[in-house]
Amino acid sequence: MQFIDLASQQARIKKRIDSRIQTVLAHGAYIMGPEVQELEQKLADFCGAKHVLGCANGTDALQLALMALDVGVGDAVFVPSFTFAATAEIVPFVGATPVFVDVDSKTYNLDVNSLERAIRKANALGLRPAAVIPVDLFGLAADYLPIQKLADAHDLKIIADSAQGFGANYHGKCTGTLGDVTTTSFFPAKPLGCYGDGGALMTDDDNLAERLSSLRIHGKGRGKYDNSRIGMNSRLDTIQAAVLLEKLMIYPDEIVARQKAAQYYTEHLEDRFVTPYTPMNQNSIWAQYTLLADDNDRRSNHMARLKEAGIPTGIYYPLPLHQQAAYKNFPCDPEGLPVSEMLSQRAFSLPMHAYLTSDDQEKIIAALLAGN
Ligand SMILES: *Cc1c(COP(=O)(O)O)cnc(C)c1O
Repeated sequence: MQFIDLASQQARIKKRIDSRIQTVLAHGAYIMGPEVQELEQKLADFCGAKHVLGCANGTDALQLALMALDVGVGDAVFVPSFTFAATAEIVPFVGATPVFVDVDSKTYNLDVNSLERAIRKANALGLRPAAVIPVDLFGLAADYLPIQKLADAHDLKIIADSAQGFGANYHGKCTGTLGDVTTTSFFPAKPLGCYGDGGALMTDDDNLAERLSSLRIHGKGRGKYDNSRIGMNSRLDTIQAAVLLEKLMIYPDEIVARQKAAQYYTEHLEDRFVTPYTPMNQNSIWAQYTLLADDNDRRSNHMARLKEAGIPTGIYYPLPLHQQAAYKNFPCDPEGLPVSEMLSQRAFSLPMHAYLTSDDQEKIIAALLAGN
């Protein structure tokens, strides 16, 4: 059994992917070829954002967003502690200070009360609150309405890290249209993944889009050798765009399949485990299906028992960022981050993808219930 089954997906669309790749090999425009623009347009149609810009990966997308917003030395950027390191990593990279915020105990997404305390903390430290990076963790959009309210009050920009959440629905809107700019990743294991590294940025802001489009190609100005700012080399490969064009065609259908699989898990596990919570007016795309065990020991027992039965599981994330060697000296919510710490002890994720069979799900559920 696979944790994420990319082979079944490939078998479904292999002919069309092969043909797309052959087209790129024939025209030879490997960098910024026509497939990149075609994909950007189709992603914009899909999510409703005005501008979509491909880039090299989801981490660069976050860094480009900070650069485009002129975030740098003396600035505080608020990030949840319970996330993948890339969310925080790019903040010191541009010279700014990450300030760690706790997550909500039901959604596992950014806790707005903790954000408010962290903003006060940043002010007390003499930092300028500049931006917040809510993460759409495990495929569920963060709670953007209250975040937006707080951001407006404190003049914060919102960079939505939707590496795990592209296509999720929040109060009738699609991720990609929430916040000032949204970033995503096409890393192969993400819900919409390519066959290598890839990423994208989405925004409705014309000015920001223009800056991003320059920054991803060495800060280019009007001409090829005209540099108007310090930028990066962060383009989406044409071949990856070609692969993504075919994957995007089946993505809506795959999202429905993931939602069905998640519902099935929940129906059979909710009496015995803490199952994922989806707030009203939201739809997750289920990048991960994550349970909470009663404690760390019992989590290990569940995972060992599943492994015995040939079922892979994963821990996202075993250590919150504010406790990692690389990040432990940065400021935090002064009341601490107890939910992030609790989740890192108890959360574990089950196989989740669009090609999960009911036989496999039965097997997983039986193995889980056998030990609880
Ligand atoms: C995967 C991921 C990223 C980074 O994406 P890459 O394409 O691997 O650079 C950033 N943030 C979150 C929350 C992620 O899960």
